[in-house]
Amino acid sequence: MSFRTLPKVELHTHLEGCAPPEFIKGLAAEKKIDISKIFTADGGYAFRDFDHFLKVYEAACTTLQTPEDFRRLTLAVLEETAFHGVVYMETFVSPDFCGGGDLAAWKDYLAAMEDAAAEGQEKLGITLKGIVTGIRHFGPDACKPAARCAAETFGDFIVGYGMAGGEMVGRPGDYRYSFDMAREAGMPLTCHAGEWGGAAMVAETLRDLRVGRIGHGIGAITDPALIEEIAEKEIVLEVCPGSNVVLKAVKGWDNHPIAKLRDAGVKITVSTDDPPFFHTTMTDEYEMLHRTFGWDEDDFKALNKTAIAAAFCDDDTKTRIAKRLEPTP
Ligand SMILES: [Zn+2]
Repeated sequence: MSFRTLPKVELHTHLEGCAPPEFIKGLAAEKKIDISKIFTADGGYAFRDFDHFLKVYEAACTTLQTPEDFRRLTLAVLEETAFHGVVYMETFVSPDFCGGGDLAAWKDYLAAMEDAAAEGQEKLGITLKGIVTGIRHFGPDACKPAARCAAETFGDFIVGYGMAGGEMVGRPGDYRYSFDMAREAGMPLTCHAGEWGGAAMVAETLRDLRVGRIGHGIGAITDPALIEEIAEKEIVLEVCPGSNVVLKAVKGWDNHPIAKLRDAGVKITVSTDDPPFFHTTMTDEYEMLHRTFGWDEDDFKALNKTAIAAAFCDDDTKTRIAKRLEPTP
């Protein structure tokens, strides 16, 4: 059977990172921007390692210049994601790529994304929510305007605050100011940690930034006491196995710690991160988890239940989505 049509909840995606290469190429041609070197001969994104991936990502983002570009991007992403059975999606959006952190500009971009989300809901039946992210490698000061944009637009569409980008830049505590600002606004929090930084980065992130979810978090696997703490505090991990394999954060699917973490009682969820960059889709992720660990429909249903419970949206939306995850009688 194919897992494609199984209803899914996806919590960890980056909006620009979901951009189909063809879409970015089209925008580049319209705007006469030459970014041909970021594509492989067969039309995918070309990068060597994680640092180069960040550069290619940012080069792709140079084609996204107006709110209208983001409206079109959001629709293109929703079409692709809905095709793989996703009924609820959270995506990281960054004021740095949408008006350079300026609040008035950010609101214009946001209105365009919300427009597309409403259209996606109506035409494709997929619910999209946004999580504002600071970009870690831009530094702690650059994350402050992002957090301000988040706090000022927290509501129905923007449901949380988080941090992405180069994990090895600074320590989590350096970014406390922006996380405090978002927390004071009442926002749920998540942060990338333990993709590259190991168990210590996960522990520091929990201690200094007090987040309820961790992006990746797989580095925790080397520290049994930390695993116990994560399980006990019901911290939810947004695990993206295909991304970890392609970026070589793990040696291969067989070595991925997702099954061990789950078996240790950690609340785990599965997402694609930046699917076209990592040649993956939610269908592929499920297929590989099935092949590698023997996970089946019941395992995936449990994953999706965990994911919707950990979603940052309001309770009415959670109830509505939870019903769609139930088998139809
Ligand atoms: Zn990510």
